[in-house]
Amino acid sequence: MLVAPTKPKVLIIGAGLGGLTMAILLEKASIDYEIFERSAAPRALGSATSLTPNVLPLLEQLGLLEGLRQISKKVLGCGIYQEAPEGDLSKVGESNVSEYEAVCGYHSFIMARPDLHTLLLSHVPAHKVHFGKRVLSISQDDDHGVLIRTSDGKTHEGDILIGCDGAYSGVRQSLYKNLAAEGLLPASDGEDMKVCHMSILGTTEHVDPKQIPAVAEELSRCDAIIGYNKPHTWRYFAVPGDRICWRVDVQLDSKTFTHTDAFKNSEWGSEASGSIEDDWRAFRVPIGGTIGDLINLTPQESVSKVMLEEKLYTTWYHSRTVLMGDACHKMLPNAGRGAVNAMLDAVILANAIYEIADDATPENILAAFKGYYKERYAHAKTDLESSQFAARLLAGQSWTDAILRKVLFNFMPTSLQRKTYEKTLSYRPQASFLPKIPNRGTGPVVAQKESKRYEREQAKDA
Ligand SMILES: Cc1cc2nc3c(=O)[nH]c(=O)nc-3n(C[C@H](O)[C@H](O)[C@H](O)COP(=O)(O)OP(=O)(O)OC[C@H]3O[C@@H](n4cnc5c(N)ncnc54)[C@H](O)[C@@H]3O)c2cc1C
Repeated sequence: MLVAPTKPKVLIIGAGLGGLTMAILLEKASIDYEIFERSAAPRALGSATSLTPNVLPLLEQLGLLEGLRQISKKVLGCGIYQEAPEGDLSKVGESNVSEYEAVCGYHSFIMARPDLHTLLLSHVPAHKVHFGKRVLSISQDDDHGVLIRTSDGKTHEGDILIGCDGAYSGVRQSLYKNLAAEGLLPASDGEDMKVCHMSILGTTEHVDPKQIPAVAEELSRCDAIIGYNKPHTWRYFAVPGDRICWRVDVQLDSKTFTHTDAFKNSEWGSEASGSIEDDWRAFRVPIGGTIGDLINLTPQESVSKVMLEEKLYTTWYHSRTVLMGDACHKMLPNAGRGAVNAMLDAVILANAIYEIADDATPENILAAFKGYYKERYAHAKTDLESSQFAARLLAGQSWTDAILRKVLFNFMPTSLQRKTYEKTLSYRPQASFLPKIPNRGTGPVVAQKESKRYEREQAKDA
C-alpha cells in the first residue's frame, strides 16, 4: 500500500452520473484520480432524466451547460392525466414550472439518460476511466491507504475511495460488513431497502410525426401521465431528435416480491421488449396511440427494467472510504432528485477534498468526509421525503392520493407554489475552487462556504 503521501490519489468506483461528475470536478481541481466501472462499455439504457436548477450553475461552471442545452428540452410544465374505466383520458391537472428561469436563472432540463451519460463521459479523459473492471473487494488502513481488487485479477491503490456504485453498492456492503463485525454499524443501516415499484422503460428512435397522431404538436411539450389501471402508472417525455422517453411503473405488493428478486432486477438491465405484457402495452397516451406503439418504436436492446427502491443510509464514510449518490441515499424517481443529489454530493465532496489536498493526512481526510456528511445528509433527507411525497402525488393509486392530486394540481395557490420552489431551488452549490457563476435569478441563493485554499492560491497568483 502507499506510504501516506500528502497529495491524495482518489479511486472512484462507478462511472454513473455521480461518479462522472466527481471525475470532472477532480480533473478541474488537478487532483489525481481513476474511475473503475464494471460495464464493459457505456450502455445506452434508460429513459428520461430531468435536471433541476440546483445543479445548473455547477454544470455551467464546469463548461457543460451548452452541451446540456443541445441534448435537452426545457421543462415548462407537466400535464397529469388519468384513464377512465372506458379507456378515455382526462386531464387531472398541470404543474407549471415556467417561472424557474426568472427565479433562479435556469429552467429545468429534460433529456434521455444515455445522452446525459455520454455528455459527462466526454468531459473525462479516456485514460482515466477503466471499463470492464468490477470492484470485487476493498481494504483500507487509516495510516497507509486503500486497496481494491478488480474482476480482471488486478489490484489498485489510492488514498481515498469514493463508492458511487449505485443502489446495491458493493463498496457500501463491504464497508458495512467490516463495521458490523466491529459493532460500529447502526441497526437501521443493516436493513434492506424498501422496494416500491418495478419499471420498464426506454427511449424511442426518431419518431415520424405521421406514425403517431398529433405527435408533432405534442413533441414540444413534456407530459406525465397517470393511469388508474391499478397497479400501473405510465408516462412519457419528449426529448430532442423527435424521440420519446417512456416508462411504465407497477406498484409492487411486498407479499409477492422478495429482496432477492429486487437484487436480481435492480440494476439497469435490458429487457426483451417482446416479453412486456399486453396489458402494459394497451395504455393510451395523450399524443395518440398507446404505450405499445412507443415500445414498438424503441430498439429492443434499449428497453430496460429497473426496480425503484428507497432508503437513506446514515453511515456515509469510515476511515478512507466515502459513499455518494444512490449508494447512500436511494430515492424514488418521481421528483427527479436522484441524479441531482448525486451531483450535489459530488460538488460538496470535491470541495472538501480540494481543501485538504495539500495535506491529505488521515485526520484531514476524515475531517473532509465529516464536513461533506454534515452538509449533505440533511438535504438528502429532505429530498428523499419530497420524492416520497411526489411518488404519492404522481403515482399513488388510493382514493386519498387521487384527491391530493386533484387539489394540489388545481387549487394550490401560485404564491404557495412559488414559495416552495424558491426554497428548494435556492440551494445551488458550486465548486469552491473555480470562478463562481453569479446569481442570474431574482430569488435567493443559499450562501456557500468559501475555500481558504482557493483564496491562498489566488493571492499567490496575483
Ligand atoms: C426510472 C428512473 C428515472 C429517474 N429519473 C431521474 C430524474 O429525472 N432526475 C434525477 O435527478 N434522477 C433520476 N433518477 C435517479 C438517478 O438515475 C440516480 O439517482 C443516479 O443515476 C444515481 O447516480 P449514481 O452515480 O449514484 O449511480 P448510478 O448512476 O446507478 O451509477 C452507478 C455505477 O456504478 C457501477 N457499478 C456498480 N457496481 C460496481 C462495481 N462493483 N464495480 C465497478 N462499478 C460498479 C454501475 O455499473 C454504474 O455505472 C431516476 C432513476 C430511475 C430508476
